Amino acid sequence: MFESLSDRLGGVFDKLRGRGALTEADVRAAMREVRIALLEADVALPVAKDFIENVTQRAIGAEVTKSVTPGQQVVKIVSDELTAMLGGEQEDLHLSVSPPAVIMMVGLQGSGKTTTTAKIARRLRTKDGKKVLMASLDVNRPAAQEQLRVLGEQVEVPTLPIVEGQQPVDIARRALQSAKLQGFDVLMLDTAGRLHVDQPLMAEMQAVGEVARPAETLLVVDALTGQDAVNVATSFTQQVPLSGVVLTRMDGDARGGAALSMRAVTGRPIKFIGTGEKVDALDAFDPSRVASRILG
Ligand code: GDP
Repeated sequence: MFESLSDRLGGVFDKLRGRGALTEADVRAAMREVRIALLEADVALPVAKDFIENVTQRAIGAEVTKSVTPGQQVVKIVSDELTAMLGGEQEDLHLSVSPPAVIMMVGLQGSGKTTTTAKIARRLRTKDGKKVLMASLDVNRPAAQEQLRVLGEQVEVPTLPIVEGQQPVDIARRALQSAKLQGFDVLMLDTAGRLHVDQPLMAEMQAVGEVARPAETLLVVDALTGQDAVNVATSFTQQVPLSGVVLTRMDGDARGGAALSMRAVTGRPIKFIGTGEKVDALDAFDPSRVASRILG
């Protein structure tokens, strides 16, 4: 994750740190290199531009250029601005509603939505001691409901019994009723995947949302698709009130462009990242920790 950006920035900052004093021209030259590094990491152009502008404005101020350790100060400013770009404070799930708190999972087919549903359910069960029920609303892909059931067994989280032929909104109603009757804290709804952002499935998602009134609506996107992941998130944001994003396949993403641009472009926080195929390969997304990891 972020290896190439980290290497590139490391090179720029080594040069800065080595200098006794910094002129405005030094800062601007360094920022040109940072800009290239961000673009090579596949950061969206407007996001990279804003970032460079903010850092430059702060870094050419007198307190930096006249300081005894100007290089260090620039690195500190970059770290602050990187944290801000990644979303600032870490955003947890907001589940303090009267139970069951519904988490609706949405996303394109193959993004890792079903796996992520099980990963989050497992995390809520093992880490937060929550009683979780999962239900698959995916009646389009034949094996989808069965896939969630099998994952449920793996993570020791029950799934709503499958009733053949039932439609998504009705499954959501039944799931909600079961969760209420059986005293579940959290109900996770795995909605149907889609090949691209299409209208009938968006309408289905909105209908499910009206019935389920989710506390969280999480979009699952594949980090490896880079700026496409950000574009998909932007389209979803226009159709459903997303509360957050989960980026999967971060384990294979050396560049990190989707993670770096997501918050700034969509206005939605990244809440989790998927870091592997196993059911425990899920991390909370902490902007300041990620920023310090990038800056080494
Ligand atoms: P869905 O169609 O969106 O429900 O996608 P699935 O949950 O079926 O996942 C598709 C594939 O991606 C499966 O083989 C998963 O094991 C894999 N996958 C999901 N998340 C991750 C991740 O974070 N890292 C890696 N390496 N693979 C993942």
